[in-house]
Amino acid sequence: MVSHFALTAVVLTWLSAATAPTANTDQSAYGTTETYRQVLVIESRSDSSKLPIPQLAPVYDGRKWALSTRWDDSNPNALNIRRKMLENGIRGTFYLNSRKPEPQQQSLAHKLTDQGKCSIGGHSVSHPHLPKLPANETFYQLIANRIALECLTDRPVNSLAFPFGGYQDRERPEVLQGVTESFLRAGYHHCVYIYFVTKNPFLPPGMVSTGLQVIPGDRKVDAKTFWARMEKIRQSSSTYQKTSHCIFLGVHPWQQGEELERLGQVMKKLRNWDDFWHCTQTEYAAFVKQRRNTIVKKLDSGQFEITRPCAFQLGSDDPLTLVFDGQEVKSASVDGIACTVRHADDKTFVNVPHNSRFGIPKTIDATAEGTAKKFPGLISSLTFDPETGKAAFTLKNATAVQLTDLLLTLSVPPAFEPGISQWKRPQLAVGDNWSVATTVSPRRTGNYWRGGRYYVAAQLDFVLDGKRGRLFTTCTVAADTPSE
Ligand SMILES: [Zn+2]
Repeated sequence: MVSHFALTAVVLTWLSAATAPTANTDQSAYGTTETYRQVLVIESRSDSSKLPIPQLAPVYDGRKWALSTRWDDSNPNALNIRRKMLENGIRGTFYLNSRKPEPQQQSLAHKLTDQGKCSIGGHSVSHPHLPKLPANETFYQLIANRIALECLTDRPVNSLAFPFGGYQDRERPEVLQGVTESFLRAGYHHCVYIYFVTKNPFLPPGMVSTGLQVIPGDRKVDAKTFWARMEKIRQSSSTYQKTSHCIFLGVHPWQQGEELERLGQVMKKLRNWDDFWHCTQTEYAAFVKQRRNTIVKKLDSGQFEITRPCAFQLGSDDPLTLVFDGQEVKSASVDGIACTVRHADDKTFVNVPHNSRFGIPKTIDATAEGTAKKFPGLISSLTFDPETGKAAFTLKNATAVQLTDLLLTLSVPPAFEPGISQWKRPQLAVGDNWSVATTVSPRRTGNYWRGGRYYVAAQLDFVLDGKRGRLFTTCTVAADTPSE
């Protein structure tokens, strides 16, 4: 079978020596997952040099399940659902649109993520039927929405719910291919639609995570059906866990009055119904990607070397959980920081925190040209010429401090290949410029692939003054007229 995956990454400048190969080199074609190394020091009850290499737990802290929620659409009642969730120890993710620019503090996205107990997922800019759009418009809908939501919350967005659940057209197989490529180029790696992940010939295995949805009832809460489904999952847990270790409630935050109280009763019972890690979908997505891309090696000293993805590319900085058999491990530390250690069921779970240098961005902004408000002194621009395929990015560091750890990820619409290109640079001195350019090729024909606007986005991750930031620079070019 001819490979459907023409989305390749071009790494033009590869300067940092602090990276290691990813766990699965096939996945590097969709943009690299930057990794870094840590040394785990174990104090054990006897000889730590005899400890075998630990397993990687599928759920944080070695819990049996991740438990989350998924609520779609920019509906103000989401704030009532959130309050009911937090009263009952439930967490989760709200999937929002981004039709108009909003002031950050007043936005629903900002209010829903306040205190970090809940997160935001992508739901497209304007809630269209994506299969009816050209592939380039689908890409715009997914990535421009992600950029807007990240800027409103100053947090990464890694999970998507398709508007109307639409991602394919059975008469036109190219739609599923175009939507899948748009999804990956837009930087998502989690989707609430299970069959998009498990029955998708255009998606390489192991790249995208999903979950098991259980519906308590959007308008009328049907607790009986809900608990019957939960019991079914519990009875066949090992089968369900082949697909995902995350159970999540959904779909719409419509419950009000008595129904909201009934939903609260379901949540109250659910809280300790099983051995749960209560988390957002963003955290679960990050945890799964982390586990799939981490390598643990034993060192001669009896210590362990962990090569793991940088949290800023995962979307959340939850620790990694290592599982040792028995109770030999007394304590553990990494980078001089103590790890939490839990003993249960004749196993020991060690939660290894990220190094904060590779943590998630604390400030995120976007600009079409010039200076972003949140990063005065960073002046960037992006141009794209669809005739020649040339994309050019420039950055001037007019701040008072050196910029370090720069990673630039360029995403172009599906009309062009490769879809993602990346560049790295260890530092950019005060007053210096950084210019990079690449040429992408129009390898596809037909209205579906050529139509729509060409929206191009450059995501720059960096450390400024000791703080991790992210700056998007975008440009939009009208598409050429298809000639078929
Ligand atoms: Zn919706």
